[in-house]
Amino acid sequence: MELSEDITCLNGIGDKTAALFKRVGVCSLWDLLNHIPADYVRNPGLKKVKDIVPKERTAVKLTIEGSPDILRVRGLNILNVPAKDETGPVMLSWYNMPYLKKVLHPGMTRVFCGNADVRRNMLSLVQCRMYDPGEYEKQKDSLESVYHLTKGLTSKTVGKALKNVLKNASFPDDFLSEDERISLDMPPLSKCYEMIHFPKDLNEALYARRRLVFNEFYFFIRNIRRLKNNAKKSINSFPLIESALCARFIETLPYELTKAQKRTYEEIIKDLSSEHTMNRLVQGDVGSGKTVVALLAMLTVAGNGYQAALMAPTEVLAAQHMKNISGAVKELGVKCVLLSGAMTEKEKKTARKCIKDGEAALVIGTHALITDLVEFKNLALAITDEQHRFGVGQRKALAEKCSGKMPHVLVMSATPIPRTLAIILYGDLDISVMDELPKMRLPIKNCVVGRQYRPKAYKFIKDEIAAGHQAYVICPLVEESESSDCENVEDYSALLREKLGPDIRVGMLHGRMRPKDKDAVMNDFSAGNIDVLVSTTVVEVGVDVPNATVMLIEDAHMFGLSQLHQLRGRIGRGKDQSYCIFIDNSKSKEKNERLQIMNSTNDGFKVASEDLKTRGPGDIFGFRQSGELSFKIGDIFTDAPVLKLASEYADAHPVTEDGENDINDRKYGLAYLL
Ligand code: ADP
Ligand code: MG
Repeated sequence: MELSEDITCLNGIGDKTAALFKRVGVCSLWDLLNHIPADYVRNPGLKKVKDIVPKERTAVKLTIEGSPDILRVRGLNILNVPAKDETGPVMLSWYNMPYLKKVLHPGMTRVFCGNADVRRNMLSLVQCRMYDPGEYEKQKDSLESVYHLTKGLTSKTVGKALKNVLKNASFPDDFLSEDERISLDMPPLSKCYEMIHFPKDLNEALYARRRLVFNEFYFFIRNIRRLKNNAKKSINSFPLIESALCARFIETLPYELTKAQKRTYEEIIKDLSSEHTMNRLVQGDVGSGKTVVALLAMLTVAGNGYQAALMAPTEVLAAQHMKNISGAVKELGVKCVLLSGAMTEKEKKTARKCIKDGEAALVIGTHALITDLVEFKNLALAITDEQHRFGVGQRKALAEKCSGKMPHVLVMSATPIPRTLAIILYGDLDISVMDELPKMRLPIKNCVVGRQYRPKAYKFIKDEIAAGHQAYVICPLVEESESSDCENVEDYSALLREKLGPDIRVGMLHGRMRPKDKDAVMNDFSAGNIDVLVSTTVVEVGVDVPNATVMLIEDAHMFGLSQLHQLRGRIGRGKDQSYCIFIDNSKSKEKNERLQIMNSTNDGFKVASEDLKTRGPGDIFGFRQSGELSFKIGDIFTDAPVLKLASEYADAHPVTEDGENDINDRKYGLAYLL
């Protein structure tokens, strides 16, 4: 079987299971292999019932005592079975696994391993795995992988599918020779997936991970280098001059541009009028005001009689840019259109026509602007965010939209990375650093508290709303989950409606909603028709509602620090004092301390470097990638040494002009720059 095939080619995976896999981002066999464990757990040694400590992961040899009983609670199907050993009774519980009823019989003796808890005064083991005693003895010290899952998908299903792939799929040849592998101290490609999913011990998992991170960084750097080769050759097909539109626009702004904004704008103008095509990265912390700079670049293009396109990472953000930008440029006589997946076919058709005949000088959308059948009259500038840097293929597509001429490219990034890393990563791009926040901003006030603080937090939110402001509440999950007791957006919004009372309008936003619904909610929030927005991290990227002054982050310990910083960047954008409340429900002292960093600084760069310091090598698993520059496996901070290796390796294996000696990242299941 080919690794590019859909997972439905595996025995036992039908459309239904495939749909569950899709929810966690797994479509092809490669995706499955790259769905690396979020964590590993060690199966504990056997205990007696009398020694069980609640909240601990526990293994006990038990005999089933009675027949299973099924309860329905809030749409959950709970199966309870009494069991015991010679020291006492214990209740075994499973959620939504009714078929176990047929499997569990009184008198049967097995090892059960799960989380211990006390429920209704009864000691119980929840969501256990079941083993033959002999089988458990054999694997008791091995590690078991824990995956990011969704309702209905179990680690067991993931593990089974992986075993199947590892057994039957053929891997492409390793691009590292044996000598190279030895000198880099890395395992062969074909082995490392086995090692990362089914490791003998944590060291083996880390060893395999290092190789996968290397691959990921290497392909990324290669693509960047290839891009650089192309860019060098590119002669400016759209030489532009500074436009009076910009000066007029700057006059209408209710604030003065920061020095950093002015400097970046000047750098852009210089590029646009130079001999070569612009290829610039604008790097600035959240809230540094990158959008205005992007808009100035777009207006320059419009003033020269060409078109400019702004591509946002999400539909929500595209719609919001449209709202802000079209308002800002209307008086200048510049027309701006939105092309969004949330629009009706008819609306899209009108927008496309407007773009094709050149009526619209500014075009806003998502990446569909390039992949879609949109035709431009004379596109001279494409602005994108970091997640969607343009690769060779996309550049071709872009140039095709410009009758073969390469348009100027501007990439926006909020990832605070050190200059040395930036040079490795973006070797080809000119970089503008916006290292200054607008004046008049009050620093955000932070606090890290436990769940018991909630009543106070709700009262605080109510007061802020009464003062005319709005609030965000962030939860890690979309819906209730069996494998986690973290808060989810669905239940939490219901709870808040109850706690905050009927006068406060609570809205909900998450990635599984339809684009149209997301837009509607976001528009309502921007327009002030929603007071409290309960959301997952979909608001992380770039949303700008300056009237929002409070952010409450539930289960803050579940997020990486840099990600928390991105989230926090949604507030503190206006002139009013903003507040960020981090609720920490973790019992781990390290995680508690880590969160204190958020308390101590609002500086994204400091957060990122502290983030790095507080992580040990074993902590790498289980962290969600942060910021806009996210790799699937690697982390530019923690894995900086591997990044350096990959960069050196790329130096030693230069990309040739004719594309020969070309390694296709897709062949290895990774595709960064399409
Ligand atoms: P980001 O860099 O995160 O994309 P935005 O461009 O969204 O930041 O800007 C954040 C907020 O700051 C916006 O509400 C914007 O209107 C405002 N802003 C931008 N530049 C300035 C400035 N020079 N002075 C005051 N406010 C500004
Ligand atoms: Mg932004």
